[in-house]
Formats: sequence, structure tokens, C-alpha cells
Amino acid sequence: MSSRYMQPLRILVQMGLLGFVVWLGVSFYRFVQIVASGGASVTVARPYGVEAFLPISGLMGATAWLKGGGLNAIHPAAVVIFVTAIALSLLLRRSFCSWICPIATISEVSWKSGFRLLRLNWRLPFWLDAALRAVKYLLCAFFIFSIGIAMSPYALQKFIQSDYHKIADVRLMNFFLHISPLVLTIILVLLGLSLLLRNPFCRYLCPYGALLGLVAVFSPVRVTRDPESCVSCGVCSQVCPTYIDVMNKSSVASPECIACWRCISHCRVHEALSMRVVKRFALPGLLFAILVVLLFWGGTAIGKLGGHWQSSITLEEYVRLLGK
Ligand code: SF4
Ligand code: SF4
Repeated sequence: MSSRYMQPLRILVQMGLLGFVVWLGVSFYRFVQIVASGGASVTVARPYGVEAFLPISGLMGATAWLKGGGLNAIHPAAVVIFVTAIALSLLLRRSFCSWICPIATISEVSWKSGFRLLRLNWRLPFWLDAALRAVKYLLCAFFIFSIGIAMSPYALQKFIQSDYHKIADVRLMNFFLHISPLVLTIILVLLGLSLLLRNPFCRYLCPYGALLGLVAVFSPVRVTRDPESCVSCGVCSQVCPTYIDVMNKSSVASPECIACWRCISHCRVHEALSMRVVKRFALPGLLFAILVVLLFWGGTAIGKLGGHWQSSITLEEYVRLLGK
């Protein structure tokens, strides 16, 4: 069965989640405004999914837990979402990046719009591309070392329980609501570059994507090419948003592969390309899509059912912190 339906389906999932994230942002903004204005009669509940934007809090909580210091009780949802994204990458490669992450969705819309407008996507020279790609791995190594290795369980808990961390989500929102000219310029430059290059933020700067890619190397699921059927047309290599030379590989093990299915969807030769488990069992596209959504929502549901979702911060404490 052709996999052409996979791109519209993936875009549908991406847009649904982007809409959900916008709704989360608006709900969180309303909650903060009401609490900051006195909070005596707060009727709006705090939406906990906003913790998806606190991956460092998630890393801290997961590290504290691994070091025997208990889970991050301040932003437990951040840990649940972080661990779910890791587990998803281990099972279904970096599908988090191409199916769920709203930043990657905006980035993909940008480079596709740029291509429609200008009929081009730049590709940097190999040496520059490789050097810039190393930046995200260096950032990832920095966070893993400074949080995962260097911080003691005591230091982790001290930070997790600090007032700064308690309202890290509010600080992040205010950072963008009251954006400085310098940060605004950087974002506009990145958006402008995103029209010309494919996913520059994800490819060069995102330490989260780097970590998920390194985990995905151990995934049993890979894009696999059948050299007997392949007619070496090169379409798969051309359409890959991460510039993987799919045509010349028997299977794609690269940490850059975001499991977007573009190569498979665009291949016109029956069964020349497929997504396979341990290179043997072909995964139907629809099953892959259902698994991505189910595993992501399932992971968060397990966190909720296990009581690791709602923050331990009381409303009174919010009023104190936001009224400062
Ligand atoms: S698009 Fe299909 S046929 Fe063409 S090179 Fe890639 S795998 Fe081979
Ligand atoms: S190899 Fe295929 S699935 Fe992986 S990023 Fe490239 S186009 Fe997407």
C-alpha cells in the first residue's frame, strides 16, 4: 500500500498539537493574569501541559529521580513529558520532532513556504553544515554534564524547590511577552533563515533534538531500502529534510533522521523504501502514526494516573510568588 497519505496525516497531527499548544498558552496566560491580580477568587485551573516547555526542569527531575532524590514535585509534568519523549525516540526514532514538537512544525511550515515563494532551499557547504550541527551536540553535552553529572542530589532538590524554579514557566512566558530587542532580532533572523534553510533551529541549535537523536540511534525502527527494487532515482535523498542520502543507504541509522516518512511517501517504486523493525518487519504508515500519538498521550496519561502531573505548588503560594 502506498504511503502517500502519510504526509497529510502527519501535518494533521502536527497542526492539531500546535492548536492544542496555542490553547494551553492562552489558558496559562489567563491563569497567571488572574492569580497576579490578587487571586482571591481564581476560577481558572492551571493547565499543566505547559511543562512541555520546561525540558531542563524535566531533565533535572529525571536526574534527581535517578540519583534517588525523588521526582520533581514542582513540575512533575515536565519530567513525564521528558521521559515520554525519550521513550518515544527509543521506540520510534525522533518522531517527537516531526510529529509533535510545535517549534519543528513552525520551522517546517517556514521552509516549505520559502520553497514555494522562492523555489529554493539553500544547502550549506558540508564543512559549515557539519560544524554547525556539532553546536547542538555540544549544547546537549553541556546540559547533561552540568545537570546530569555535576549536580548532586542535594543541589538538584535545592534548585527544584527554589522560588525561581517554581515559576520558571511564568518567567518563560514573560520572557517572550516582554521580549528584548536582541532576542527579537535573533528570533527574526532564525525565522528568516528558516525560509531559506530546512529547519536550521532543529538542525543546528536544539539540544533536545540532539539528545532524542542520540537515543534514536538505539531504536529498532529504521527507514530501510530494498536495493533490488530501488531504481536509484534519488527522489528520497532530495526530499529528506535532514539531507540524508537515503538512496545510497541500506538503512538509515543517522541521529538526524526525524522519522518524517517524506522519503517513503515520495518513493514511487513499490516497496523500495519502508519503515522496518530490525530491518525485517515493515511497519504500515497508519500503524506508525497511531503508535506515535498513542505512545505520547499514553506516556502522559500514565504520569497523570500515577499522580505525577499536578504541581505541589498551592494557589496561595502562586499568589505569593506572582504578587511579588
Ligand atoms: S525514491 Fe525509491 S526508487 Fe528512488 S532512489 Fe529512493 S528508494 Fe530508490
Ligand atoms: S530519512 Fe526519511 S524519514 Fe528520515 S528524516 Fe529523511 S525523509 Fe524523514
